[in-house]
Formats: sequence, structure tokens, C-alpha cells
Amino acid sequence: MNVLYDIHTHNDCDYENVISVRNVFVSNSIPAELPTLYSASVHPWYVGRDWKKLLEENVGIIEKSAFIGECGLDKLRSHLDIDEQILLFSEMAQIAERMGKPMIIHCVKVFSELLAIHKQIKPSVPWIIHGFRGKPQQMNQLISKGMYISFGINFNAESLALCPTDKILLETDEYGGSVLDVYRKASEVTHIPLETLAQFIAHNYLDVKK
Ligand SMILES: [Zn+2]
Repeated sequence: MNVLYDIHTHNDCDYENVISVRNVFVSNSIPAELPTLYSASVHPWYVGRDWKKLLEENVGIIEKSAFIGECGLDKLRSHLDIDEQILLFSEMAQIAERMGKPMIIHCVKVFSELLAIHKQIKPSVPWIIHGFRGKPQQMNQLISKGMYISFGINFNAESLALCPTDKILLETDEYGGSVLDVYRKASEVTHIPLETLAQFIAHNYLDVKK
């Protein structure tokens, strides 16, 4: 069996044959011990207007991370209004550019703003939309800008079935089980055998990580 990749997880358990990117929120409570492979960012759920200070104080954690994220925009849940979230997200996107690290992006109901920031920054690093549950039309718009789409245990089956194989990534996020469960579901929906799907995803992971 190929190695499986979990591009975004909040779980701290290790599964055999799985490489997972653990998420570290840059907030007022950062774990004392950092995972070996992780993503780090300030996130609009966990910060207030003091996010700039938090970011300055913890830049070392971000420098050592493999990915920038999860970061993003959330219309439904945040202590920050959307304008402040846009400032924060743009700052994280610029840091990702400077450090040459791929971004793992959380986006809830603000895709037009996300696309506007993308147009402005014209990123050279990969942007990965995590936990995507949207419809094919929205997905195609993101893919047309070169973004990768990461699917979790719950997704829009039509979208995943239509997603180009060179843009698919998989994740557990807050799901308690192994990413193998997500692979199995994705294999069913796409009619791609598990082994072949694992090859595609390994390729995509190495592509974003390089
Ligand atoms: Zn998450």
C-alpha cells in the first residue's frame, strides 16, 4: 500500500503508513512541544484585534512550519469583522510568499473575497482550500486559479467526482478516525481504485510540498 497523506488534521494520534500535517494555531495557548510536520497560522476563530502582536511574537513557529495555515476567512464565526479578517489573511498570504510555503486555507462563505485577494497577490506558492464542501461550479473557479482542493470525511460527492486528479488532496481535519476512511470514501465516489488514488494524492502532496 502506498503512503497516505493527511494534509490537514487536528488529531495528535499517529497512524501507520500515514503522513499527516498537524495544525498548530498561533493563539494564546500554543503547545509546548511542536509536531515534526505541521502547519501554523493565526486563524480568525482564535484571535482578536491583537493578532498582529501574536504574529510578531510567534514568527519563529511559523518559520519552522512546513505549511502556512490553516488561515482564512469565515463569514459565520470570528471575533474579527470581515475587513479585519481580510487584512489578517493577506498578511498570512504575504508571509507564505516570503517564506515560500504552501497555504492551507479555511474559507466559509467568502469565496469572492478570497478570489479578490488571490488576484491581488498573484501567489507563487500553492493555495490549498481545505475541507471543501462546495458545489462543482465554485470548485472549478478555484481550480481555474491553480488552487488545490482538499476533501474531508464530508464533501459534495459531485464535486469530488469532477475534481481533476492532479488537484485532489484529502484530510481528516476534526474527524477522529484515520485518513484511510476518507481515501475509501473518495475512492468509491470517484471510481478510482484505492491504490491508484493513493498514487495521485502522493504525487499532489509532493507537488505542493516542494
Ligand atoms: Zn481544521
